[in-house]
Amino acid sequence: MTDSRVRLVALLALALLLVALLVLVAVWTPWRTLPPVPGGSTAPDPNAYFSPAEITRANAFHRSIRPPAYVSLVIGLALTLLLGLTSWGARLVGALARPLGGGWGWQVLLAALAVVVLGRLATLPFDLRAETVLRRYGLSTQTWASWTVDRLRGAGITLAILLIMLFGLYALVRTAPRWWWAPAAGLAALLVIVLSFLYPVLIEPVFNKFTPMPAGELRSSLLELADRDGIAVDDVLVADASRRTTALNAYVSGLGSTRRIVVYDTAIEQLRPAEIRSVVAHELGHVKHRDVWYGTALGALGTAAVVCLLYLLLNRPGVLARAGVSSLADPRSIPLVLALVALLTTLGGPLQLLLSRRVEARADVHALDLTGDVETFIAMQQRLAVTNLSDPDPPPVVYALFASHPTAAQRIALAKDWQTLHPAPARVAGP
Ligand SMILES: [Zn+2]
Repeated sequence: MTDSRVRLVALLALALLLVALLVLVAVWTPWRTLPPVPGGSTAPDPNAYFSPAEITRANAFHRSIRPPAYVSLVIGLALTLLLGLTSWGARLVGALARPLGGGWGWQVLLAALAVVVLGRLATLPFDLRAETVLRRYGLSTQTWASWTVDRLRGAGITLAILLIMLFGLYALVRTAPRWWWAPAAGLAALLVIVLSFLYPVLIEPVFNKFTPMPAGELRSSLLELADRDGIAVDDVLVADASRRTTALNAYVSGLGSTRRIVVYDTAIEQLRPAEIRSVVAHELGHVKHRDVWYGTALGALGTAAVVCLLYLLLNRPGVLARAGVSSLADPRSIPLVLALVALLTTLGGPLQLLLSRRVEARADVHALDLTGDVETFIAMQQRLAVTNLSDPDPPPVVYALFASHPTAAQRIALAKDWQTLHPAPARVAGP
């Protein structure tokens, strides 16, 4: 088959993957979480639920944290693009590999190591500055030693995943120079699913200790809540998040037998039992609607599409030459591959966040349906926002580019709408 035929097949595969993604997004995403509200929806109003002092403090925090956080992101991306879209990255990998000799595997290892280390070093000053701001506002409880250990662990995990992907990719490129993208797309999608399954047992324990919530009234009431929701939960786990942060949170992760509901120890300490029930009811919403599966399916299809696009972009005339390499099989092309992947995933980010915000709103409605307790839900949202210093009213661009959840004011407005739709208090007895 000629090269142009292979490109056509790749284009067709990409089109199919995009259609599958669109269908998944259209069918699974809860675009409407509540039926129309008589008299219209409640407008989100931070001033109604947060004091001027709380709003001033949150705004001051965001004014301090945004510059270093955003500069760090921009520098990381700019460096990746600079190395990959010019010949600098190829020259760097070449210069590193030459004195040490060795085959392509050795070069892949050195290239991945160089990219990860350089990226971390370039953003280090801004990451240090961001951590200082977190401490000034009492959000971080880390020492510099534990912060450094965390960053080294994070870099180690990034490097390990990068090496699995790059060794697989270059082994395929070298055995099937024309068709590598087809098995690569399938294997990359499989890797997303496997990582999603293994994340709770492999990666989460690297950063936190998880213990079953001790027997008692709270644990029993949470298990009763899950039972009433028709969800089999073996265990509710508590994470020792207070080692790092004062922020309050809970989440659900894992697939199948590795699925778990995790509540931060900070939330257990600071929230009332009814508020913890409200938080857990939200997490049960994610389980009920299979949101981890949804995220994993989106990730798997998106990753396969990125691989097809990568192949099509790498085959455009002049792309390899501009990056200073003559063949993709040459590991000096790694910076180029990473730059294209970074570009594609960055462009996909805002769409992912948009879908995440819809899924979060559905979990909120689930929490309200399950507990019937609007007052506690609102009190919990207020407490979470104040403790976590959430931005009460982020600029639209910041919201679109970074917000994985609706704002506290939006979540409270949703609860008000839910209340309008459920006028008879359906309050369920509980602590
Ligand atoms: Zn959630």
